[in-house]
Amino acid sequence: MARGKTQTRRGERQPAAVLPIARVCVDVPLAHLDRPFDYQVPDQFADTAVPGCRVRVRFAGQLVDGFVLDRVATSEVPAARLMFLERVVSAEPALSPEIATLARVVADRYAGTLIDVLRLAVPPRHARAEGQAPAAPAPVPDPPDNLDAWSRYPRGQSYLEALRAGRPAHAVWQALPDEDWPARLAEAAAVVAATGRGVVLVVPDYRDVARVHAACVALLGADGVVALSAGLGPAERYRRWLAVRRGAARVVVGTRAAAFAPVADPGLFVIWDDGDDLHAEPRSPYPHVRDVLVQRAHLTGAALLVAGFVRTAEAALLIETGWAHEVVADRAAVRATAPRVTAIGEDDEQLARDPAARAARLPSVAFTAARQALQAGAPVLVQVPRRGYVPALTCGTCRAPARCRRCAGPLALPGVSADGLPRPPACRWCGTAEAAYHCPACGSRRLRAVVIGARRTAEELGRAFAGVAVRTSGGDEVLATVPARPALVVSTPGAEPVAEGGYGAALLLDGWALLGRADLRAAEETLRRWTTAAALVRPAGQGGRVVVVADSSLAPVQALIRWDPAWHAGLELAGRTELGFPPAVRMATADGTPQALAGLLDELRLPETGEVLGPVPLGEIAEDGTAERERVLIRVVRAEGRALAAALAAAQAVRTARKEADPVRIRLDPVDLV
Ligand SMILES: [Zn+2]
Ligand SMILES: [Zn+2]
Repeated sequence: MARGKTQTRRGERQPAAVLPIARVCVDVPLAHLDRPFDYQVPDQFADTAVPGCRVRVRFAGQLVDGFVLDRVATSEVPAARLMFLERVVSAEPALSPEIATLARVVADRYAGTLIDVLRLAVPPRHARAEGQAPAAPAPVPDPPDNLDAWSRYPRGQSYLEALRAGRPAHAVWQALPDEDWPARLAEAAAVVAATGRGVVLVVPDYRDVARVHAACVALLGADGVVALSAGLGPAERYRRWLAVRRGAARVVVGTRAAAFAPVADPGLFVIWDDGDDLHAEPRSPYPHVRDVLVQRAHLTGAALLVAGFVRTAEAALLIETGWAHEVVADRAAVRATAPRVTAIGEDDEQLARDPAARAARLPSVAFTAARQALQAGAPVLVQVPRRGYVPALTCGTCRAPARCRRCAGPLALPGVSADGLPRPPACRWCGTAEAAYHCPACGSRRLRAVVIGARRTAEELGRAFAGVAVRTSGGDEVLATVPARPALVVSTPGAEPVAEGGYGAALLLDGWALLGRADLRAAEETLRRWTTAAALVRPAGQGGRVVVVADSSLAPVQALIRWDPAWHAGLELAGRTELGFPPAVRMATADGTPQALAGLLDELRLPETGEVLGPVPLGEIAEDGTAERERVLIRVVRAEGRALAAALAAAQAVRTARKEADPVRIRLDPVDLV
């Protein structure tokens, strides 16, 4: 009998003589099972079942994967009731103690489970890579001999000095418009690597990885630097990741998942362009790279650098709370390196006279700037927004965003009712209908959905500059670089190629499409998109010009003209504080069927300031106004953020313990709140 045989075999197993208990995190992502389970270590695995290794265990009658978190002498569970580990998959301690601790903290902050975070943090195993002998640790490099470029920032040298001294220095750095930022980040990394400590640099996409990796290799040599990005393929990625875990490489450059790269003795964590959506993890429990690195710096005593051309409201909060210092250039240096920025409204009087330019609706100032750059032998960047943005509802007179009277959430038009009449606008967060809107800023009673203007195509733009090569970047085909030759480079935001020697001019068209998005972060995001493109243009002294088609009275336009992203971030943070938006508060969304959400809310024991908004329908809305899925939003003051996450995790645990069939998806501080 099969069962009897198993029992006999188990009966022959002897527990290990030393530390016979393994505490295991089992791969069962259910909230009520999110704790370590004890197993006996059989004698045969006494030396291989090390903390951090992968094992197979029996759990609720199934064989499942797990990680050994710890080996201990005793268990609270009597030995007779403990099962043995089934087998050790590999003695490689893939999970380092530091990452195990970090993963628990991240799970707790995001109301997730440890195993979900470990799935993000530790890549799947590839046996062949583990079979290769570990490379010797790269030698400690010499410190970089020239760090003068950091002197353009009054606090730059003292930040590097703090890194050299091993202090936990936290900084928010705004790079100058002409900055070779990959080189600066590489220098900061090299300063820390020269002290023998590890560095993790996280950037949005593979093009940034290539640039920062090249800059690091130039300073540190190829052996000391590892590039990690999702596009590598599982085997190669694991091989490189293992080189980091085994201590062969000290400096890691990578995309999102690299935030968990297990460098030995970390001394510095860097995030570049923290406003980029790519830093938000799309898998449960949806952590953000900036937040993971802030936690990691806090836990390890390492330094942190939040870097970019612009500053997010979240980074502004790190400064405002005193957790980080700012590293910025003085105004004279900004003026000397920024291109000249002109804002121009989109109306007929300002359009170029040239018929082809007129057909492409190019303002004459934009047409002239582009022509001059092309004549000077330089490429011209044309930024056109992607299609498919959902426009926001604004005041029909002063264009202030239309907000809910009750919760300050965004108003939207929910479409027509079953009898064909238009429904009144309603809040996207709490669902309250607003039948008598009046604008708190100007008193107007008119509402408007942002007008969808006509969009320009690459062909139309090309016709305005006859004889000039047109290249496009965006969607499936993203260019990394373009040569220093006359060309029109038409790009969607985020896909702008770097031009050798800089662009002669950039035309930022269709600003309304970016600014009018239904997104709390529309202004911040627009400035980020514009600034990132404008930073690829030559300084004004070398003829560099930027023309932005948008109303010059708007704050993001002003911030671009003056090149003052720090000022804009301060405005954003103040505005969000006043309205009760993140990061001034912590906010959670819960998505699920109406029944599942009702069940969750029944179990939820909110902290004192907890406020529940909604539910509001998600996705397809049926004729009777109901939806298959709904969303509630929950907000609390920042100080109660952890309590909110704990309450949500506890409510989820009650539901999973009851084996509720309908899942509820919970996200904390999601970047898209509408
Ligand atoms: Zn108004
Ligand atoms: Zn509301």
